[in-house]
Amino acid sequence: MNRREFLQKTFIALPIVAIAACTNDKKHPEVEEKPKEPDTSSSVTFVSEDDPMAKNLAYVADASSASSEMRVEKSGVKGMDQYCHNCMFYIAEDGKSYGPCQLLPKKGMVHADGWCKSWAPKPA
Ligand code: SF4
Repeated sequence: MNRREFLQKTFIALPIVAIAACTNDKKHPEVEEKPKEPDTSSSVTFVSEDDPMAKNLAYVADASSASSEMRVEKSGVKGMDQYCHNCMFYIAEDGKSYGPCQLLPKKGMVHADGWCKSWAPKPA
């Protein structure tokens, strides 16, 4: 093979190898992917605002719909800055906009942007 042939084959072969590497579906055996959990809102049970326990807490799925008279400043945090996601009773799950609340066990998930009158700041 002369120099010209070598260069021609190399410049034709390299892009093909690069494309094949990018489209290879085989996984590396040492890097196994975890099975993904279905994360659709339809497969999640949410706390109902009509649940008696939730009503006692005046829970709302959308904090902005809470009465401003109830959503008052606590521990130096203004009412409008209080959400489930920054409440000490909220159990955050990576990448999810909802999670369980320790005060509403077995009732389903609360919305990260929800609120209730038992809101308390997460410890620093
Ligand atoms: S206790 Fe906290 S996390 Fe639970 S519903 Fe009330 S504000 Fe949300």
